[in-house]
Amino acid sequence: MGTLFRITLYAHSEGEAKAACHAAFARVAELDNALSDYKPDSELNRICKEAAGRPVAVSPGLLAVLAASQKLAEETGGAFDVTLGPVTRLWRRARAEGRPPEADALREAASRTGYRKLHLDAARGTVLLDQAGMQLDVGGIGKGFAADEVLQVLAGLGIRRALVAASGDLAFGDPPPGKKGWRIGVDEAGRPDAEFTRVLELSNAAVSTSGEAEQNLESAGRKYSHIIDPATSMGLTRAITVTVVARRGLDADALSTALSVMGPRRGMAYIETRVDAAAMMMVSGKVVESTRWGSFGQ
Ligand code: AMP
Ligand code: MG
Repeated sequence: MGTLFRITLYAHSEGEAKAACHAAFARVAELDNALSDYKPDSELNRICKEAAGRPVAVSPGLLAVLAASQKLAEETGGAFDVTLGPVTRLWRRARAEGRPPEADALREAASRTGYRKLHLDAARGTVLLDQAGMQLDVGGIGKGFAADEVLQVLAGLGIRRALVAASGDLAFGDPPPGKKGWRIGVDEAGRPDAEFTRVLELSNAAVSTSGEAEQNLESAGRKYSHIIDPATSMGLTRAITVTVVARRGLDADALSTALSVMGPRRGMAYIETRVDAAAMMMVSGKVVESTRWGSFGQ
């Protein structure tokens, strides 16, 4: 998944802790083999080759990720779209080369995208793609899901006091001993009337941040994000950072990506409909919060 996973946990002994971490990282490796679009032989990439025009069985993990993705695509009017693979690959190459993709290439890639061309059969556990040359990219949701799965593996071994962090995506189990929650600093530097960092104290919840300046392309005075607006196939150019708190890592991860695309007006209107989540956005130095942001996890 192109990132580092870090696990913090409380166990009764060092042996128990080591065995638990071993099992947890084994699950991460398994999910990486399923969800990665970098690995040519990942389950995700195999499906893209085999599922055009005929249903192909997929693992429960990948099916869960794709089902949540499709639901969010419907609810956000396609702002979140895991079929953007042909377009995100062009932008990945563009970042390496230092200039935006050609308009023709983008148009051609976009003709092989669209969440309505991806069909899931939950009962049979299969995936079907309408068109050859489609490419799935679950980079906007997979790390949060993997963090949830790690917490589940640990809980199965009796370890509930744990934190999983995969760069900007974190998931929390029960609090550390004697604490109310895991303390997480959220940078609100853009906010003139607040402390530099807002501290959240979370347990059995997750937090994700999207849009940090790490994966940008700068060209002709414009900065393009690695997050793509499916309506235009272009990397976002508006300076926006979104932090989402939710019950599950899968939701926090996907929502932070989706809200980046939707922007403050549409994005906040949508997050208000989600009782399981809250969001804070920084848009060109201005902070916008959803109504549940201040109280989430308290
Ligand atoms: P995140 O860092 O979680 O916001 O995810 C960003 C990643 O999600 C990108 O690197 C792409 O792999 C993928 N992505 C980009 N744009 C979208 C989009 N509109 N919907 C879903 N996934 C996207
Ligand atoms: Mg995300």
